[in-house]
Amino acid sequence: TCALPISHIILTVAFVFLYVLVSIPDFVAMKTFLLAVATAVAVAQAAQLRGISSSGCSYSSDFDYIMLTEQWPQTECDDTFHCSVKPPNFFTIHGAWPNNFDGSYPCNCDSSDEFDPSKVSSLHSELVEYWPSLQCISDPDSCLDSFLSHEWSKHGTCAREISAMSTQLGYFSTALALREKYEILPALAKQGIYPSSSKWYSKSSVSTAFKSEHGTYPALQCDSSGYISIMAVCFAKNLTAIDCPSDNSNCNSDSVLLPDRKSVV
Ligand code: 5GP
Repeated sequence: TCALPISHIILTVAFVFLYVLVSIPDFVAMKTFLLAVATAVAVAQAAQLRGISSSGCSYSSDFDYIMLTEQWPQTECDDTFHCSVKPPNFFTIHGAWPNNFDGSYPCNCDSSDEFDPSKVSSLHSELVEYWPSLQCISDPDSCLDSFLSHEWSKHGTCAREISAMSTQLGYFSTALALREKYEILPALAKQGIYPSSSKWYSKSSVSTAFKSEHGTYPALQCDSSGYISIMAVCFAKNLTAIDCPSDNSNCNSDSVLLPDRKSVV
């Protein structure tokens, strides 16, 4: 786990200071300031006791399910990465994330286990193809390792309870295998849903298309224009597919677009 007992110490010191200053009548402004500091620390402390950090992740490595998050490259290239070459025309992996049903998730569970590319060298070509970093799409190798390192440290180190994911090789190879087994685009195509620059589909038709093929509801996330940015497939800890909790979906309008890839953004 990744508990941060430092806030206990800060809280204690803040209250001792406060106690001393309250007994000196002239320091009204200082007392007010310290009261504000102590209150802020107390709020942070309360959040920590609930297990939630300011970035939203929990300090406990417990989790309920795995969400295999896949990005739609054209949307991510349009919105974030301004890719200089044509992006892939299939969903690529963003990460395999341990999540909780209450919306929290563990992160950064073992800083001592740093990502080591040599441990996943046997997967290199698959990772370049199916888990690329769109940030450096024109030079696929240049930041692949930093993307994978980020995913391993933040999420992968928290998934150890699943024995198939308990090592770096296991974590990445399991995610790649799940992507292949639950491929998204062919499932949509079987129901007549294809990438397009103009054809909008209802959210439910996209989700139902995936379910018809694979048996579970995915999560669907969109940008503010309704362009699909993420589709995710959820798994119980024994890696059987489950419906993704509906609060993982955030597309606001009923119609969504899966933008066809452009040659250059
Ligand atoms: P997360 O924290 O959501 O698991 O990962 C997002 C981080 O990975 C961001 O810091 C982002 O800059 C970096 N990153 C590198 N390559 C990619 C990519 O292809 N897609 C996304 N969404 N993030 C990427």
